[in-house]
Amino acid sequence: MAKRDYYDILGVSRDADEKEIKRAYRKLAMKYHPDRNPDDEEAENKFKEASEAYEILADSSKRSAYDQFGHAGVDGQAGGGGFGGGGASFSDIFGDVFGDIFGGGRGRSNRGADLRYTLELDLEQAVKGTTVQIKVPGHVECDTCDGSGAAKGSQPETCGTCGGIGQVRMQQGFFAVQQACPTCRGSGKVIKNPCKKCHGAGRVEQAKTLSVKVPPGVDTGDRIRLSGEGEMGMDGGPAGDLYVQVAVREHAIFTRDGRNLYCEVPISIVDATLGGELEVPTLDGRVKLKIPAETQTGKLFRLRNKGVTPVRGGPAGDLLCRVVVETPINLTNRQKELMEEFQQTLDGQSASSHAPRKTSWFEGVKSFFDEMKF
Ligand SMILES: [Zn+2]
Ligand SMILES: [Zn+2]
Repeated sequence: MAKRDYYDILGVSRDADEKEIKRAYRKLAMKYHPDRNPDDEEAENKFKEASEAYEILADSSKRSAYDQFGHAGVDGQAGGGGFGGGGASFSDIFGDVFGDIFGGGRGRSNRGADLRYTLELDLEQAVKGTTVQIKVPGHVECDTCDGSGAAKGSQPETCGTCGGIGQVRMQQGFFAVQQACPTCRGSGKVIKNPCKKCHGAGRVEQAKTLSVKVPPGVDTGDRIRLSGEGEMGMDGGPAGDLYVQVAVREHAIFTRDGRNLYCEVPISIVDATLGGELEVPTLDGRVKLKIPAETQTGKLFRLRNKGVTPVRGGPAGDLLCRVVVETPINLTNRQKELMEEFQQTLDGQSASSHAPRKTSWFEGVKSFFDEMKF
């Protein structure tokens, strides 16, 4: 089964900060902790899953590896802390998590949104790495108002509803809750006289061209994070990130499966029978493949290290060539005669000496009929 996305497991967005991640994990862990759900396998699995997600996302270097490469980037790194192993006590695990969740502090509400871009690559580009220029939609600060959103000669004014704090307290039953100010939408400022060019937004649409360095070995589903290349932030907040999602196009000859490549190679009935040498394509050019005599159709030949070196490192995979024996077509009369002559030399001989598959197939059919009493 495919592993679930760590952010989905915790139910947080990709730009969630440490506090949000801790809060989400704490909630799940409280709910599914084995101490609270004895003999409940589903709860235990959920607890382990959440613990693993938290272990990766709470560690900034593991998180960025995960953001960039998905599960492949952090495989084997989770679970090392003994989470879910049953050894750690409830308070051991939560001491840290519970410690500072009440620490308050402003979220990153003015941070720009993360963007996602799907980058289509040819197999060769994905395997060897490349640098591509991409054009992404985005915004830049409005140069007419220098990002303030107010028309020339005027200034944004302090919001009268919230007094510039950007938040208002609302009474809901027994609880008082803080909410973003409905008048200024949390910015603390109102613009009475908006800038003509950006209509008060302080930003204008402008696509930008970025150069993306694609490391060799990437595959469909891998992500490359371009930090700070997402949407620009509001009110001077930091920009979001741009996630470039790799999608590798189908190749005319090769099919990729992880680090291995597959291809089909047609061979003639003569080469298959007598043996021969073929040229087969690899991503590094042609190589010679020796076909032994009496090769049957469908046989797989392995060319070591002619596959893909994975982006996370490790040895290169192999190229697996499946030979397919072709029936000759468009024969001349002379060629047909030769085939018939050849057939006559076989007549009268037992099939088993020349056609191993046919022999076992007929034996199978015979015993099938015998059993069915046809
Ligand atoms: Zn403007
Ligand atoms: Zn306000």
